[in-house]
Amino acid sequence: MTLNIILLGPPGAGKGTQAVRLEDEHGMVQLSTGDMLRAAVKAGTPIGVQAKAVMDAGELVSDEIVSGLIGERLDQLGSDVSVIFDGYPRTAAQAQALDGILSARGRKLDHVIELQVEEDALVDRITGRFSCAKCGAGYHDRYKLPKVEDTCDVCGSHEFKRRPDDNEETVRTRMAEYRAKTAPILPIYEARGIVTHVDGMAPIDEVNDAIETILATAGQSVHPAPVIEAPRGTG
Ligand code: ADP
Ligand code: AMP
Repeated sequence: MTLNIILLGPPGAGKGTQAVRLEDEHGMVQLSTGDMLRAAVKAGTPIGVQAKAVMDAGELVSDEIVSGLIGERLDQLGSDVSVIFDGYPRTAAQAQALDGILSARGRKLDHVIELQVEEDALVDRITGRFSCAKCGAGYHDRYKLPKVEDTCDVCGSHEFKRRPDDNEETVRTRMAEYRAKTAPILPIYEARGIVTHVDGMAPIDEVNDAIETILATAGQSVHPAPVIEAPRGTG
């Protein structure tokens, strides 16, 4: 069964951390517009050149660019691959575009999982975030250190990096953007009855357990289990 889900939440809520767990555990594919844009910046493509200053300022890249990236990436995947949208959609226009992008590819949005985290914790998470420079595995100065000091758990590399936009000033702008432009799309999905709220303040494993429970339920609603009727009793 193919699932299409959105992980929604402010910067630092844990979307990327959970998306990678779902990739590992279920073979789903994470579609992160932030990762796609950073790759474009690194490669120096026209989109990357255009996006860099906007990203460094913590503002939002244009709806056309990010929706274009999502459509292209979906076209590279088989129709039977389940996907997790991470950091997309971020505006009402992107939410509307996503509906069209999915239906044009015979897909439909199954679930929106909102990770709820307090703002002070977000600043703490983002300013402590770092990743492996070689494979991209994510870590945190206090909440998720490599098991062996200075050695990536996944690939063994000793090189790590931090994002240029993970500083307190930019984080405040990114949060303001989230409140003003992204939070208002939740009611669109709530009206469809496909939103579940998860306590993102819980430890990483507990958040993962909560998401697993939601996915199991979403799976059942897509392919309902056969109802085995008990024989009617006589009283
Ligand atoms: P997002 O993709 O939503 O911006 P990340 O998944 O990159 O957020 O998480 C931000 C930082 O917080 C990372 O350094 C990550 O290791 C850490 N983190 C993620 N989830 C939790 C959690 N439940 N508790 C504590 N730290 C977390
Ligand atoms: P993220 O990795 O999700 O934290 O995104 C990093 C930055 O990339 C954001 O602060 C934006 O500048 C840009 N970005 C990522 N996804 C989007 C999106 N869906 N819409 C607009 N800008 C985005």
